[in-house]
Amino acid sequence: TTFETMGLREELMRGIYAYGFEKPSAIQQRAIVPIISGRDVIAQAQSGTGKTSLIALTLCQQLDTSLREIQSLILSPTRELAGQTEKIILALGDFMNVQAHACVGGKSLGEDIRKLEHGVHVVSGTPGRVFDMIKRRSLRTRHIKAMVLDEADEMLSKGFKEQIYDVYRYLPETQVVLVSATLPHEVLEMSQKFMTDPVRVLV
Ligand code: AMP
Repeated sequence: TTFETMGLREELMRGIYAYGFEKPSAIQQRAIVPIISGRDVIAQAQSGTGKTSLIALTLCQQLDTSLREIQSLILSPTRELAGQTEKIILALGDFMNVQAHACVGGKSLGEDIRKLEHGVHVVSGTPGRVFDMIKRRSLRTRHIKAMVLDEADEMLSKGFKEQIYDVYRYLPETQVVLVSATLPHEVLEMSQKFMTDPVRVLV
């Protein structure tokens, strides 16, 4: 499989090639099409398999960049991962003018509020800070169409379960993509609560 046959937008294809990707990794080959067709997807994949880029490019594909509202939300277990995901979205989405912001603990609240007010398409963050911004009404959820739970097993083992459920309560109608290296009981339980007829992809 190649990126060309997947029906990706031209500006996104430019971003992918400019970034240096020539062909999709195994997880990308199997998960891109179901995600961009709107299905809920459970992708069982470790870091290093191209899963962060999978998230970035499928979310970019689905954005309406003329609408300056948050349309996708990614929850990650660490500030570092949330920041890396923001960066790759900005890189792959460069030719689409995608605006992304990382909402993570330990950084200034004022900065987050300013950035979100200015209007971004994608927020990548840690569950605690994201829920905080939702409660403050700085992070508007009304236009969010897709939520990604990245490294779901790590988020649960770090004790983020309550915050993830708190965030999800604001997003009952969204597409959900769950990425996890392992699928312990708690992860499967969350997938059953949040997801509808998910496609399962294992690499
Ligand atoms: P990830 O699992 O997303 O952290 O990706 C691991 C590494 O693989 C990163 O350095 C990515 O830039 C790289 N990568 C991801 N997708 C591709 C691809 N389709 N072709 C080449 N490298 C890739």
